[in-house]
Amino acid sequence: MTSTESAHLSPDASGSRTTDATSTVEPDVLVVGAGLAGIGMAVALLREGRHNFVVLEKADRIGGTWRENTYPGCACDVASVMYSYSFAPNPNWTQMYAEQPEILDYIDAVAREYSLDAFIEFGSEVVSYEFDEQTDRWRVETRAGKVYRPRIVVAAHGALHNPLKPSFDGEADFGGAIFHSAQWNHEVSLEGKRVAVVGTGSSAAQFIPRIAEQAGHVDVFQRTAHWVLPKADRKLGATERWLFARVPLLHSVYRNIAYWTHEVPVLAFMNPRLVRLLRFAARRHLAKQVPDRELRTRLTPDYEIGCKRILLSNDYYPALCRDNVELVARGVADLTSTGVVTDDGAEYAADVVILGTGFSTDNRCADEHIVGRDGTSIQQAWRDGMEAYLGLAVTEFPNLFMIMGPNSGGGAQSILFVIETQIGYITRCLDLMDAQGATRMEVRGETQREFNAWLHRRLARSVWNSGGCNSWFLDESGHNRQSWPGTGTGYWRRLRKPDPAAFVFSAGSVTGR
Ligand code: NAP
Repeated sequence: MTSTESAHLSPDASGSRTTDATSTVEPDVLVVGAGLAGIGMAVALLREGRHNFVVLEKADRIGGTWRENTYPGCACDVASVMYSYSFAPNPNWTQMYAEQPEILDYIDAVAREYSLDAFIEFGSEVVSYEFDEQTDRWRVETRAGKVYRPRIVVAAHGALHNPLKPSFDGEADFGGAIFHSAQWNHEVSLEGKRVAVVGTGSSAAQFIPRIAEQAGHVDVFQRTAHWVLPKADRKLGATERWLFARVPLLHSVYRNIAYWTHEVPVLAFMNPRLVRLLRFAARRHLAKQVPDRELRTRLTPDYEIGCKRILLSNDYYPALCRDNVELVARGVADLTSTGVVTDDGAEYAADVVILGTGFSTDNRCADEHIVGRDGTSIQQAWRDGMEAYLGLAVTEFPNLFMIMGPNSGGGAQSILFVIETQIGYITRCLDLMDAQGATRMEVRGETQREFNAWLHRRLARSVWNSGGCNSWFLDESGHNRQSWPGTGTGYWRRLRKPDPAAFVFSAGSVTGR
């Protein structure tokens, strides 16, 4: 890693300039976040022979979402063979759908294999990004006051990392423990307690079966029912793992099966008339697992399948059928000193409240200080909603790439496939800049506008937009800011080769690699 160190002047929050005694580091590429996206980006840079980069990580270890989410039962709902980097197949998965500790171990192993520790700076939370038009470099500052001046910034801080916590007027009065699923409080024993679970999305469906085994009683507050499909999960035996390790072709066959299994539903999501088959399978699953007709009715969604992310689970419905579990088909409106109040005014006693209420996704950069060309802030650029070109570049923000930016995910394909597709595109953009001798690369405004007009036209007919539900895919104005309007394959084809005509390249006085 090469870097230049120099004292510098930096603007403080009020805009005045103060002397900053800290050193300035000038990597060619600065990657923010050491989750699956940041680690994948770092490996790609190394594989391309680009060693002049730094990865900043706010926490003290890598792993991103798989470090943060430690709730009981936390697992991936994408088959493990497909939830691995293509360059690092893992023959050691012990389950078709791995649980969180195993996924975290896998990320650690990849980072170890590429000796990434030398490139990652932990405890480095970025608080500001400002594009310097004089040098065509970004000025990135961490909370500790350290300043970086990279040519390129890759924002790899993920889409689902700001826990969304409903504000309850009575929260301060609540006498018990309360925590969010992504900030699980392992100090709180649930043994024999009365637990209230708020929400029934992907996270809650995974932890409810586990906590139901310990708690005295669990009330599950369901505002909207979710569609659930069976999960084709099973243990992977020693023989299978041995074969994976020795016959790479077999691993590749499994991966291909998983890939296409995740692709097919997207065709239905884009053509809602085709989702009938999925709806039929979900109804059968419900009928098979929930004998009680009245409970079945409460669990039957009133919107089209696929509109919200489908839950894959074999143990969620059985957990709701337990004697110590009650499904309350109401939203939670408030807390009292002794429990929760539903939106119809009924009170339920609780010792512990667990929020399975998801993440803030509407405007992921709402609280970030990101200032691009001509002093444009990301808040100004996204005042009408998040928008990017191909989910990774934003006009007026040169030399900045996002991984999992607006409208790059949300389908059914493994997000790791999306991440790798974007990483490949970004490395090809770096090559383009080098080939053109450019110090600045910025997506054209009209290209971004045309792309988004096309994208939102296509999304209008998707089940995410027209399925009759409210989900985190849609922002407050009802625009879908998360989904790519098609298959993973379609996305990959679109990103195989950057179109130089989509960007403006320019060369200032400073170049560097
Ligand atoms: P989510 O899907 O957004 O679910 C949040 C839940 O909280 C919804 O059921 C919502 O109800 C409910 N809720 C919010 N406020 C409420 C209130 N006041 N009263 C009652 N219910 C309330 O969040 P998530 O389960 O954390 O999942 C988010 C995303 O993370 C998933 O879609 C998935 O992409 C990802 N994830 C993936 C995995 C995996 O296996 N790969 C696992 C977990 C999560 P409404 O539906 O009515 O809004």
